[in-house]
Amino acid sequence: MQPHSLDEVIDLTRPRASSGARVLVIDDDRSIRELVAELAADAGHEAVCVGTFDEFQRRYSSDFDLVLLDLHMPDVDGVELLRFVASSPEVPRVAVMSGLGYRIMRTVEELVHLQGLQVAGTLAKPFSAKQLIDLFAASATPHVPSQVRVRPQVSEKELERAIDGKQLTVYYQPKVRLRDRVWVGVEALVRWQLPNGQWLPPDAFIPIAEQSALIGRLTEFVLETSLRDAAKLRADGYPLEFAVNVSMHDLEDLSLPARIEAMVRGASQNLAEFQLEITESGLMRDQVGALDVLSRLCLKGARVSIDDFGTGYASLHRLCHMPFDEMKIDVSFVRRALQDEKSRVIVENSLELAKRLKMRAVAEGIENYELWQWLAGLGCDYAQGYWIGRPMPVAELIPWSKDWAERAAKFV
Ligand code: C2E
Ligand code: MG
Ligand code: MG
Repeated sequence: MQPHSLDEVIDLTRPRASSGARVLVIDDDRSIRELVAELAADAGHEAVCVGTFDEFQRRYSSDFDLVLLDLHMPDVDGVELLRFVASSPEVPRVAVMSGLGYRIMRTVEELVHLQGLQVAGTLAKPFSAKQLIDLFAASATPHVPSQVRVRPQVSEKELERAIDGKQLTVYYQPKVRLRDRVWVGVEALVRWQLPNGQWLPPDAFIPIAEQSALIGRLTEFVLETSLRDAAKLRADGYPLEFAVNVSMHDLEDLSLPARIEAMVRGASQNLAEFQLEITESGLMRDQVGALDVLSRLCLKGARVSIDDFGTGYASLHRLCHMPFDEMKIDVSFVRRALQDEKSRVIVENSLELAKRLKMRAVAEGIENYELWQWLAGLGCDYAQGYWIGRPMPVAELIPWSKDWAERAAKFV
């Protein structure tokens, strides 16, 4: 490690060129500041580590990829610290660390969510070097669009113009098989880049699309883009399964199966290579119609997943009445399963349910190796999560897969 002053601030930033994460750390414990700075530098990241709230306020900017906050500071309490971060117009990802018990950390995590911030992780002290390195590595992708906090209100008209004007983009998150770590597919996740360059995550505009007639066109756009990208990847020797999110509102349109089939055939592809994930963010109005559409899609060879299983939207009732062949266990349970007893029980029981109902199980929200190992031990079939790979543009998938193959060869 380079020699540097440890009095107050350890500043290891360089001009913004490297691919590592830029991290701002506040902790009154000097040994933690030293440790964090050293680990960050060794792993190719850049860290500014400060010991006081004053210095934190001076150094703070949205140019950081991650702010790591000690919740127990002598000159500011954790809640105030979060409020300060939340009050700035653009916010990096936030991770919190504390020597307080897990229960309190969990409440604070909830508070971070309520402030509209994106929680990148929580570190209970004492934490291991590996936990810290994983957190930095997960933050290294510069400002992933779904991390943008400030969400301007957008109108139906603007969304319509965005669909017509090709302002929407599709990102892909890798899906891997737990048994042998093989990359088997991707999930298509829509993003919207506003004319001012700001990215909007899907939950800022999918509800608008669902309340209007635009959801059909949005789904068509995502499917068309996925078909094109799937063909390119296949030609490059990557025969991947593509999963596309389909809203319950799409299923009210009885012409959907024929339209999807025509699009897939038109692109000379096979419907069986596409997984349709059924999502819902509103009350389903027409259950009979939805069942009709889903059954016809299945008869045409499509495979259908129940997404966000365990949340209020994806209920046991739906599981019972609709022809799902895959269950995706919701991020919110999986990512907490090792610390939170209730989440753990929900994941374990969902896996058991999937097995008994002869469905493939996918765990979403794998944020570290420990979760991967635990799910592999439970016989979960597939995994998605930031630790494996974040949603990314199509061009980044093959470089990611090489990196993944190297990582996957190393762990037991
Ligand atoms: P989803 O289909 O359940 O997608 C998974 C979401 O979890 C994605 O958020 C993904 O970025 C996030 N995620 C993945 N791994 C992790 C992890 O390890 N930790 C955490 N904390 N989160 C993780 P995203 O992209 O913001 O999408 C949110 C939701 O928006 C999706 O949830 C889906 O319901 C909806 N959505 C996205 N694209 C489309 C689309 O094209 N059409 C429709 N109808 N809905 C879409
Ligand atoms: Mg999904
Ligand atoms: Mg989901």
